[in-house]
Amino acid sequence: MSGCASASFGSRKEFVTVEATGYCKCGECCGWRRNLLLQPVYAYGPMKGERKKVGVTASGTKAKKGTIAADTSVFPFGTKMKIPGYGSGVVEDRGGAITGHKIDLFFRTHKQALEWGRQMVRVEVIRP
Ligand SMILES: [Zn+2]
Repeated sequence: MSGCASASFGSRKEFVTVEATGYCKCGECCGWRRNLLLQPVYAYGPMKGERKKVGVTASGTKAKKGTIAADTSVFPFGTKMKIPGYGSGVVEDRGGAITGHKIDLFFRTHKQALEWGRQMVRVEVIRP
């Protein structure tokens, strides 16, 4: 009998401490504003002025509760996470400022996103 047999043997589960920031689909959170025709456009960055699909993630899914934005070189699309105080989610989005062990958690309202704010959390990661 091996005394050091790990409970995670054979599983892809791991625990990672990340900085988790709340966001919603509003312009303040996602960097968009409306142009003169009231169309959503990027407010800044290399895409400034270009049309933006509000509430659609980088992987093409609709942003909803449980949508996580991450650095996909660290946590690829489809990575599942269990976040204490938030629940389960899946990496479906990314963002320029989201690098390394940082994630953004989608909330339905701006108020809920602000209430979460920014927290260091130890999340369970299940890679695809
Ligand atoms: Zn917002």
